[in-house]
Order: sequence, then C-alpha cells, then structure tokens
Amino acid sequence: VPSSYEAPAGVLKDKIILITGAGDGIGKTAALTFAQYGASVILLGKTTAKLTAVYDEIVAAGGPEPAIVPLDLKGATKKHYQDLAATIQAEFGRLDGLLHNAGLLGVLTPFEHIDLPTWQDIMQVNVTAPMLLTQALLPVLKLSTAPSIVFTSSGVGRKGRAFWGPYAVSKFATEGLMQIIADEYDNSAIRANCINPGATRTSMRAKAYPGEDAQKLKTPADLMWLYLYLMSNDSVGITGQSLDAQPK
Ligand code: NDP
Repeated sequence: VPSSYEAPAGVLKDKIILITGAGDGIGKTAALTFAQYGASVILLGKTTAKLTAVYDEIVAAGGPEPAIVPLDLKGATKKHYQDLAATIQAEFGRLDGLLHNAGLLGVLTPFEHIDLPTWQDIMQVNVTAPMLLTQALLPVLKLSTAPSIVFTSSGVGRKGRAFWGPYAVSKFATEGLMQIIADEYDNSAIRANCINPGATRTSMRAKAYPGEDAQKLKTPADLMWLYLYLMSNDSVGITGQSLDAQPK
C-alpha cells in the first residue's frame, strides 16, 4: 500500500458507492470527493437536511446525480437494510463500494462510570449497524467486478486508552469485523480494509478535545488520497489491512 496516492481524474467513473454518515465531517468530504472523481454516491445519514445539502453541492458541481437515504443507524432494523439493498439493486443494479464512516463518540468517561444505554448506543451505531448493513448489501456487492468495503477505525481501536471506554471497544470490534470479512472472502473479488483517519478537523474531534486549536489539525480533504485509493481499482488485491490516512 502506498503512503500517498495521486488519483487520476475520473478514477471512480461508473462506480456506485454508498457512504454512511455522508452529511458531515469526513463522510461529507468523502461523498463530494468520490462524486468529483466520477462515482454515483448513495448518501446515508441521520439528518436529512445535511444530506440534501451534500446532494445539492454534487449536482451544482456537475457530478453524477446522487441518491439520499435518511436512516438513523441507532434504530435501523434488518428490514431497513434489506429494503435498501433491494432499492440499490433496482436503481443501480449493483454496488461497487461501501464506506462505513458514520460513528458515535459518546462521552469520554472513567471506566467506573460507563453507563449501559450509552455503551449500547455506541455498539449499535459503530458495530452492529455496519455488520447488518454489510450482510444485507453483500448480494449487490457481489454484482460488482471489484467490490471494496472500507471500515473506519481509530488509534484507540488498536491500543486502548483511558476514558475512551465504549468508543475504543467499538473500534477494536470494527477492526475485528473487517478482518473476519477479509479472511472469509479472501478467495473472492471482495476486499475489506480499515482506515484510521488520525486527528481530523471535524465536530467529533472538537467534542473529544474541546481545548484544542482545530486550525492545527488536518482536514478531511487531506485524508482523501487513501479513501480514493481504497475505492479505486488501483487497490484491487489489497484486503485485511488497517491503514493510516495520516502516515507517520
Ligand atoms: P462527525 O461527527 O463529524 O460525523 C459523523 C457522521 O456520522 C455525521 O454525518 C452523523 O450524522 C453520522 N452519524 C452519527 N450517528 C449516526 C446514526 N445514528 N445514524 C446515521 N448517521 C449517523 O465525525 P467525523 O467525521 O469526525 O468521523 C467520521 C468517522 O471517523 C467516525 O467513524 C469516527 O469514529 C472516525 N474517526 C474520526 C477521527 C477524527 O479525528 N475526526 C479520528 C479517528 C476516527 P449527523 O450529522 O446527521 O448526526
């Protein structure tokens, strides 16, 4: 895997890519970037107004017309995901890329004070929802010649850190989910990898580090080389990896 990537113009032409949490932060930039490089993007997120704004921005820039899927991953059931798969099959005929980006931080708290409802919400949004969504979308992913599944991990998903409780555990689980899928589909065209974005200027980062000068952080745009690489055919054959979008 390269430590930088200069994406050729149109590298994602004719690709169909679904992005969760596409209304804000890293997911929003990923959606705009994938569309800029030619992909038709399916924008999934909780707040419809944010998704509509991303849709408008893509259309205004002359990108392929996106689709919008308002869905709260906290309450979504297997049926929601199955209906989504059927709609994708009917509208697009297949799915080439799946970016699991939506995430819930919760609140940083000492282990002794972790409360069960918060723990369960974070596991639901960060682990169970990506598992169910991947399961439901596998049939349409298999209709692609080079399907790519990308999960979003974190530094605290590789080494635990005090007070990061449920969020950190959910990111370890994300790494595990990715590895299991990569191993099970090792002899197929399906590839699965994790991106660790690293410290990035978004509202989630500001919530975790309220005192920090956000201007000193990398922006979502700085990370896009790796997102483009993993979604493009240039990464065919790369699977089971956990990669840093801000390599040391
Ligand atoms: P943001 O909080 O800026 O954006 C998260 C996105 O996920 C939002 O669009 C949000 O939608 C969506 N989302 C949250 N909960 C749900 C839900 N229940 N259902 C549907 N969508 C939901 O976060 P970032 O862009 O910073 O983070 C993106 C990913 O990167 C996350 O997985 C995060 O854990 C990871 N990450 C981020 C780092 C950073 O420094 N920023 C570092 C390491 C990892 P809405 O706006 O409508 O609530």
